[in-house]
Parts: sequence; structure tokens; C-alpha cells
Amino acid sequence: MYYVIAGVAFGCLCLWAWRRAAAWYYRRKVGRARAAGVRSQDDKDKDNKGALARAPSAASAVLSNWAYVKVVPLWMFQHVTLAEWFWSVAYLGIALGLGFWGCIRDGRLDYANPMGYVAFGQIPILIALAGRNNTVSWITGVSYEKLNYLHRMSGRVAVLATWLHTLGWFHQGLGPHGPGSELFLSGMLGAVAALIMWLTSFALVRRVMYEFFLVVHILMCFIFIVASWYHWPMLGWWCWTGLIFWGFDRGLGFLRMILVNKAWLLPFASKRAEHSACVVELVDPAVLRITVPTRSLFRWSPGQHALITMPQVATLRYEQHPFTIASAAGDAVFLVRAQKGFTARLLARMQSDVESGLNAYLEGPYGVSHHAELLGHDTLLLMCGGTGITYGTSHLLGAVAAAHKGTTALSALRLVWNVRDAAHVAWIAPLLNKALENGTAHMAVAIDVYVTRTGASLEPGPGHEPGPGHEPGPGHEPGPGHEPGPGHTPDSEEDSGATTPATLSSSEAVDKVSVPEKPTYGLSEQAARFVSFHKGRSPAEMILRADTERSATDAAGVAVGVCGPLELQLDVRRAICRVNSASAILRGQPPIELHVESFGW
Ligand SMILES: Cc1cc2nc3c(=O)[nH]c(=O)nc-3n(C[C@H](O)[C@H](O)[C@H](O)COP(=O)(O)OP(=O)(O)OC[C@H]3O[C@@H](n4cnc5c(N)ncnc54)[C@H](O)[C@@H]3O)c2cc1C
Repeated sequence: MYYVIAGVAFGCLCLWAWRRAAAWYYRRKVGRARAAGVRSQDDKDKDNKGALARAPSAASAVLSNWAYVKVVPLWMFQHVTLAEWFWSVAYLGIALGLGFWGCIRDGRLDYANPMGYVAFGQIPILIALAGRNNTVSWITGVSYEKLNYLHRMSGRVAVLATWLHTLGWFHQGLGPHGPGSELFLSGMLGAVAALIMWLTSFALVRRVMYEFFLVVHILMCFIFIVASWYHWPMLGWWCWTGLIFWGFDRGLGFLRMILVNKAWLLPFASKRAEHSACVVELVDPAVLRITVPTRSLFRWSPGQHALITMPQVATLRYEQHPFTIASAAGDAVFLVRAQKGFTARLLARMQSDVESGLNAYLEGPYGVSHHAELLGHDTLLLMCGGTGITYGTSHLLGAVAAAHKGTTALSALRLVWNVRDAAHVAWIAPLLNKALENGTAHMAVAIDVYVTRTGASLEPGPGHEPGPGHEPGPGHEPGPGHEPGPGHTPDSEEDSGATTPATLSSSEAVDKVSVPEKPTYGLSEQAARFVSFHKGRSPAEMILRADTERSATDAAGVAVGVCGPLELQLDVRRAICRVNSASAILRGQPPIELHVESFGW
């Protein structure tokens, strides 16, 4: 089992290193050309590669569409990619297969003890896959949240194997190890703890009582490991390895928290304010903007998140909640939608629109950022919904900074945001004003705000289960006039000054929402030039098709990042499958790569 895991991890490491190296090459080589105003393959005819030379890209597009882009419904609500299916089934098959391998002894079926070995073998794996300071993530470049499905599969295998072991022994007779013996008591304790852990980890429990799930999960996991050790000390080193992984993750997390918040200064009241201060603003009846002033030891990359602790607000004083960082450098800015627990209490604490008397401690940053890879593409399309805009703004801000430094191959970036009300632009206005005040250098930027005005939720969920009201509303179908115009003219590429921003063309006026003539919603005049408003939900396929047609072929193609409700994710996935076809790639269309972010696991 461990050889297989090591082989897969090594393969992922090589792939990850290769992608990083390719992105670095594009950022350097094409980035320099872009900064000098060169976009050498605007005219697709100049890409005179034959269909044969494009065949590997076409094959890779087909593979990626099938493995990572298409999702298949699982049971009633879940949507998983075929790659996730494959790895889950492979994991289950290998773990149980190896267990049953040695089941026939002297012509007799004995599955009890082999299953015990399988259960012990899961302990280090499931803990290694759960941590935020995750060695598996560091090796494979896959973020810990995205490894969570394997953590869950490993957990299921552990529960199944534990109970097969238990029932196997009941079936063949306990002999001297019956009730009252240490072996029996420790075994039953471990088996019951594993069962409780499994039953309380269903999505419904996590959604309704997250803190309860967390406390029970940690407690039962600890009981399971200790009971397993007492049950069969000869295999105790599996337990110790698991505990070492766990200790490493928590120890490193604690150390990061101490360093980031300069905890050694906290006993001094004057210093405490300086190192834990934050400003919380009510930007909407249910949305808060938290600004944590620059902390010198807290550095992050766009797309990453941090854990926030606010002891004055939390019920369990030191509970931590993850939020994506909406800014790219300087002050860490978060947009928080009030739910029912900690976030609702924070909302209730607001005496006025601005509250600056609360302390906020950060831990992180966490999550693997793909920003460096995104900067190696020619075109970046960011599709967001609700507070998923935090993912979009962080990449936008990072890309604009890189364009000024000449370290990105991006020549066009479009940020599409689905919101219920045009006024929600005020949530991100300060970030946009600052980022766009000096223009966007050679990079053409468009920020398209789609005002849905439907009752449907636009919030990013865990990415697997749709919440209520995710059905596409009437505005879902692309209406007339959605076709983005010709745009991306040479003129716009040359613009880099603050007065004539490089903007991408947007949808035509017919679908625009009426907004006041003057820049508003807190946008500066300069920032407002990049923003346009539209009615209904964003027509993902039309936007993607138009941007892909305009994309140059001298960089890594088109990258699409999505962070929004399940319906938006599915829309974007469908659009990519249609546009990123093998035939189009063979005709010279640049390949499209997808990155999906969700607020949960
Ligand atoms: C990687 C990541 C990034 C996120 N970024 C943002 C963001 O930028 N803006 C935003 O508004 N929300 C974001 N969220 C969601 C946010 O963490 C939850 O909404 C918040 O923790 C809810 O707290 P609560 O006690 O009010 O929730 P509850 O009302 O108790 O629960 C609401 C939902 O939040 C989930 N949840 C509760 N506590 C946690 C926790 N500690 N960790 C993970 N999920 C939890 C529950 O499972 C449930 O589905 C993000 C979540 C993740 C995992």
C-alpha cells in the first residue's frame, strides 16, 4: 500500500514540478515580450504548427476534460470528477485487496486479522491527509482541502476494516479474549469510537453542527488511536506515526500562529492592540469586511486562505474559521458572509457600521496557490459568485501587480462576478480603487458584474452539495447581446496609463443594468472604467468562447478560475468541455485549464 502511495506521490511531484517550471518559463519569456508590447501570435495564422504537432495538446485536453472537468453525480447530491472517482475506488480496491490477499490460510477463510492490519495501516494515512500543514500537499502540490476526499475514503476503509475485524472475531469465537479481557475492551472501545467518528462526519452533521462534528471527530480519533495501541501494541508504531503527523501539523500551526501574531508581545496591552487589531465593517446586512493591518510575518499568495480567531466573539473562545484572503499584499482583507454560528455572532457584535475594538488572530496562510501557474497563461477568466469574489480579487490584484513588474504572460484578464445587487460592488471597491489607480500596464482587464436579482444563493459551498435555491433562474440562459464584442484591440493593449486603462471589451449595452452615470458604489473614476454591469447570470460558455478566440498561442493558453455556487461551477465545467474540444485544439485554439475553489470540504 505504502509503495503504491509513494509511487503516486512521486508521479504527482514530477507533474507539479514540470507545471511550475513551464509556468516560470512563460512568465519570464513571454512576460518580457508582453511588457515590451509584443503579443506575437495575435493572428492565429502565425501559429503554423501542423495538426500533428498539436495532437499531444488535443489529447491532453480530452484527458483533462474527462478526468477533472466533467463531474458525475454521486448518489443524490454529490458531484465528483472522474479523477476523484478513480482515486477513491483505487484506494478502496488496493486497501481491501491487500487485506483480503492473505485471508485464506490452510484452506480456511480468516479475514479478521488481515482486516485488523488494514485498519492499523490507515491511521498514519488518514491523519497525514487531514492536516493543514500537510506533507502530502507539499509533495504533490494538491491543496489539503482537495485531498479531503481521500482522507474520507481512508477513514471509511478504517471503519469498515475495524468492524470486519471485530465481526470476524465474533464469528470465529473470542476464546480467552472475551468480555472483560483487555483485548476485548480496547478493541470494542476503538471500534465504537471509529463508528461514532464516521456517523458524526456526514455532510449533514458538518453543515448543521460544525463545531460539534469537530470536537467529536478529534476526540474519537484520539480514542481510536490509543485504544488500537492498547489492543495490539505490536503494531503500535502505526499509531505513533499517526500521532507524530498529528503533532507535527498542530505544532507547526501553533508556531505559525505565534509568529504571525507575535504572541510574545500579547501580554503587553499596548502591543496586543498593535498585533491583533482589525477593522470590521458592515458592507451589507449579512456581509462583513474584516481588514487586518499588515503583519510583517504574514505573507500569502492569491487564492490562499487564513484561519481567523476572534476570542471576544467565539463561543469556544479559540475556535478558528477559514476565510479566503481577498487582497494580494499589505493589509489582509476578508469578506465574510454571516451564517448561523461564529459569523452570526460577529454580525450581532456590530454596534455601528464600523467596529475597531475587536482582536483578530491569524493562522496561515493555508491552501496551495496556483497563482504562479495562472500568470503563465495568456488569458485568465475568473468566474465568481457572492463572497467567492475574494478568490477573484486576490488573483486580479496579484496579476495587476505582476503586469506592472513585467512578470506575467497574461495579456487579458476578465473577472466575472454574479451578485444579487449592483451595489455589492462596494464590498470590493477599496481593493479595486487601489489596485487599478495606476492602470494595468500591458494587461487588458474587464470586470463584468452580473446582477441576478434572483432569490437563489450565489455563495460558494463545499463544492459537492448544492444548497437550496441553486437552480438556474430565468436569467440563466444567455440572452441577446451577451456576445462580448471584438475588443482587445491593439489600442487597448498599448494603454497602460492611469487615464486610458487597458480594458477588455464587455457585453453590449443591451443587457446592461442601468447604473448612475457617475462612478459610484465607492469606485473611483479610474476603477469604474474597468467595471460594467449586466442583467442576469453570466453566460459562461459565450464569455469563455469569445475570450479563447482572442487568446494568443505563445503562452500557456487560457486559464479559468471559478469560485461560486455549485450551479456556477457546473456551468463553467460544461462550457469548458464544449469549448476545449480536441477538434478546436487541432485547429489551433489554445488549451483551457480549470481551477475550482470552494468554501468547504
Ligand atoms: C477554504 C475555505 C475558504 C473560505 N472562505 C470564505 C470567505 O472568503 N468568505 C466567507 O464568507 N466564507 C468563507 N468560507 C466559509 C466559512 O469558513 C464559513 O462560512 C464559516 O466558518 C462559518 O462559520 P459559522 O460558525 O458562522 O458557521 P455555521 O453557521 O455553524 O455553519 C455554516 C457552514 O459553515 C461551515 N463551517 C462552520 N465552521 C467551519 C470551519 N471552522 N471550517 C470550515 N467550515 C466551517 C459549516 O459546515 C456549514 O456548512 C470558507 C471556507 C473554507 C473551507
